[in-house]
Amino acid sequence: MPERSDSDSRKLLRRLRDVLGAQSKGQERLDQITHLIADSMRTEVCSIYLFRDPETLELCATEGLKPESVHQTRMKLGEGLVGRVARTSTPVNTADAPAEKGFRYMPETGEEIYSSFLGVPIQRVGEKLGVLVVQSKTARQFSDDEIYALEVVAMVLAEMTELGAFTSDEDGMRALHRQPVMFRGATGQEGAAEGHVWLHEPRVVVTNPVADDPLTEIDRIREAVGQLRVSVDDLLSVESLDKDQKQVLEAYRMFANSRGWLRRMEEDIQSGLSAEAAVEKEQSAARARMEQVPDAYLRERLNDLDDLSNRLLRILTGQGADTGAEMPENPVLVARNIGPGELLDYGRKLRGVVLEEGSVGSHAAIVARALAIPLIIHAGRISMEALNGDHILVDGDQGIAHLRPEETVARAFRDKIAMQTQAQQRYASLRDLPALTKCGTTISLHMNAGLMADLPSLEGSGADGVGLFRTELQFLVRNKMPRRAELATLYARVMDAAKGKRVAFRTLDIGSDKVLPYMKPNDEPNPAMGWRAIRVGLDKPGVLRMQIQALLRASNGRALTVMFPFISEFSEFQEARAHVLREIHRERSLGHVMPSGLEIGAMLETPSLAFAPKAFFELTDFVSIGGNDLKQFFFAADRENERVRRRYDMLNLSFLSFIDQIVARCAETDTPLSFCGEDAGRPVEALALAALGLRSLSMRPASIGPVKALLRRVDLVQVRGVIEDARAKGDDSARPALMDWLSNQGE
Ligand code: PEP
Ligand code: MG
Repeated sequence: MPERSDSDSRKLLRRLRDVLGAQSKGQERLDQITHLIADSMRTEVCSIYLFRDPETLELCATEGLKPESVHQTRMKLGEGLVGRVARTSTPVNTADAPAEKGFRYMPETGEEIYSSFLGVPIQRVGEKLGVLVVQSKTARQFSDDEIYALEVVAMVLAEMTELGAFTSDEDGMRALHRQPVMFRGATGQEGAAEGHVWLHEPRVVVTNPVADDPLTEIDRIREAVGQLRVSVDDLLSVESLDKDQKQVLEAYRMFANSRGWLRRMEEDIQSGLSAEAAVEKEQSAARARMEQVPDAYLRERLNDLDDLSNRLLRILTGQGADTGAEMPENPVLVARNIGPGELLDYGRKLRGVVLEEGSVGSHAAIVARALAIPLIIHAGRISMEALNGDHILVDGDQGIAHLRPEETVARAFRDKIAMQTQAQQRYASLRDLPALTKCGTTISLHMNAGLMADLPSLEGSGADGVGLFRTELQFLVRNKMPRRAELATLYARVMDAAKGKRVAFRTLDIGSDKVLPYMKPNDEPNPAMGWRAIRVGLDKPGVLRMQIQALLRASNGRALTVMFPFISEFSEFQEARAHVLREIHRERSLGHVMPSGLEIGAMLETPSLAFAPKAFFELTDFVSIGGNDLKQFFFAADRENERVRRRYDMLNLSFLSFIDQIVARCAETDTPLSFCGEDAGRPVEALALAALGLRSLSMRPASIGPVKALLRRVDLVQVRGVIEDARAKGDDSARPALMDWLSNQGE
């Protein structure tokens, strides 16, 4: 930037700050600002367009266009040149605007006489706030310096907008982060909750976008970047890092040491921005680039830069990840995404979880289910919009979050919660009754668990036992590998709490999306089909053996049930089983009391196991269908990829035929069979499974009531008939026929 334009820019920013500081109304400020900018940029027109809602831009102030068009002229995102700037988050610079593709003629503004157009986005760290435009009659391209200067001004406007400087009630321009917003996402876990937002990663608030003394600001940014570099070096010096972690941190270091990054921020400061605003300006620019980059690797690197910018902002503002804010009452966690371990750290404190990303099949969703908290996934840009403490309603059934709701919405929502509570009470009255169908079949209903906190549900839900205890959750909550004694104590407590009811302990199922923080992550192209679950257990048997020893010691003379995840072929089961037998021998020789009874089973999660030799079905004590994984491999549809996951229904008749085959194979050898995927907890799916011959289902505790209530009302022979008719008709899925039949039963 040439020196003259630097000081011009600084002067302009200082004048902008004075406007902000003065006691005036939002509209007056906007009018003064457009005047100042047009004057400083020597253009006839300067206009500010702000978002009225996420799709609509409104002309909020102008110098040069017809004043009557203010608050009248609106355009959709992507419409006209202004809309294009907003949609692409990149400047449009043209000497002949009317000839430009997408130009929209708006007669009320009188802008047709202006030939040159320069528009830059008003954005704050990826949040689109509006568009700043200058126009002039003379046909000319604006220079790079002019574009840069306008971007700097737009950055200050963004901060001012964020701080509510342009809010005014008269024209309905309400402050950001104040109005009610509804986010329509997808259901991750049913249920309803009312509470207050708790941001997993709180936003950094910058209150000083303009700075007087560039030298001081440059000192501040250099000092902060210095600290950032030291912190990255510190991370890199940790000895236990593996090659992959090192590589990521090396990329961080490269950015932290990048001269270009620091130089650009220093230039921003020279133009009058504060150190914080300079970081945000570069971060916004990087985010805008990120949205355009098709290459996943490069996007990942830009993500690194985003992360570093956040760290730098926290250093500069002193607002750590822990902002000192108190967790509000009834906290509802709002985040872009969260891993299962992090979610477990929050535990049962949370009333609900709302994520921008995530997926139904992910283990974070399973943890939310285990914790029985409603979860919404794919909730737009909620982490941008929500502020800590905001009132929020989580409608997990509909996948909708109401942020800062109107009182009428909140009231209707409370009615819904009350109705759900009533339904729960109805289910509670069934607690001690069996899941006995009209045709006289009893289905045993078990619960899935993985945390100590789950166990009180064993009694409350009326479950016959724990059909799946996901032992990896205990590994995920720790930051180091648990010891055998710790695990033995824990498993003993689980068995104590079960009071003699059967608990099927599934050995460690890690890999795929369950990455232990203290184990080297594997860079696998397809982790769900990679080195996971029993494959890890057999290749590196140390942990498997330690876990088996802990289970044997915990049982201390009681009956023990162990099952192995992800068995794909007979030999894997034989090998895993042999480990158990070897450990029994060893533990006995050490004087430990052995279990009074022992069941060793396998989870059927890959289609191959359904075709295993008869000897497998003879040897295994039971088979438990892991429907989440089985469905993913049956349909070749990633359980974590919402786009493909939703295409396929468990009630698809091909899948049901496959379940039929598994039932037949188990029946041939009298091998007990159960189903423990999430589908077992959905009443209609549970009904179909029972009609196909499954006599044991395992589900989240909250599903036991609804599933039992439905099973007690039906005749499974009739249900089977409905499925057969749908098959004979050539339907893809039995769902429509089942739903139809149920509605005729008065359901
Ligand atoms: C399954 O795959 O259905 C299952 C129960 O295991 P998880 O969901 O833990 O992979
Ligand atoms: Mg599984």
